[in-house]
Amino acid sequence: MPTAGRLRFWGQGRLPVPYVTRWTGEAVATDGALGLRPDGRGIGYRGENAEDRDRHGVLWARVREQPGSGRPDFRTMHPARQRRAMWERLCQVCGLPADRNTKGWLFALRRPEAAEAVPGWPEGLLCTKPPVCVPCARLAARHCPHLDLPVYVRVRKPRVWGVFGGAFDARLVPGPDGYLPYGHPAAPFFLANQVALELTRCTPVAAP
Ligand SMILES: [Zn+2]
Repeated sequence: MPTAGRLRFWGQGRLPVPYVTRWTGEAVATDGALGLRPDGRGIGYRGENAEDRDRHGVLWARVREQPGSGRPDFRTMHPARQRRAMWERLCQVCGLPADRNTKGWLFALRRPEAAEAVPGWPEGLLCTKPPVCVPCARLAARHCPHLDLPVYVRVRKPRVWGVFGGAFDARLVPGPDGYLPYGHPAAPFFLANQVALELTRCTPVAAP
């Protein structure tokens, strides 16, 4: 295999399982600790630790980290690994540094539907999928059904824009999931599970 790092393989078909993929054994680990902060001005965990909030102070979903337990759920990303990959620009598949050249970081994006394919796409796109390295871009194109015929893009300025997750109201009733930019006044009541990057200075490129 051309790839190494934190890539795992699963099942008799030795299916490659990306670093960011969540496994069914990685359960939500809130254990009833989520509640209103004592001052009522946001949500928090009893016994919070440094990993529970990101560098902007937004609270994150607690999900046990145990890659390899149960089965891989290819449609879901593990919050902590996705966050790590986004902030550190790690390849979403192998977990090693993603590829970067003079045109920028390499991303493999789902081909846009007709309605999304506006002129200039994907400039300004909010993206929750971390970048990739070259060997994994080739591997993913062969194995990831949701990526069929991905569009490869170099991104010079992938800006950490905000988070994806859900907001709670003051009675701790969760609302629908959505994006929230960092610095938004609703942030204290928001529970994040993915980092969103804004892709700017994009150049579509051929498959690597
Ligand atoms: Zn890789």
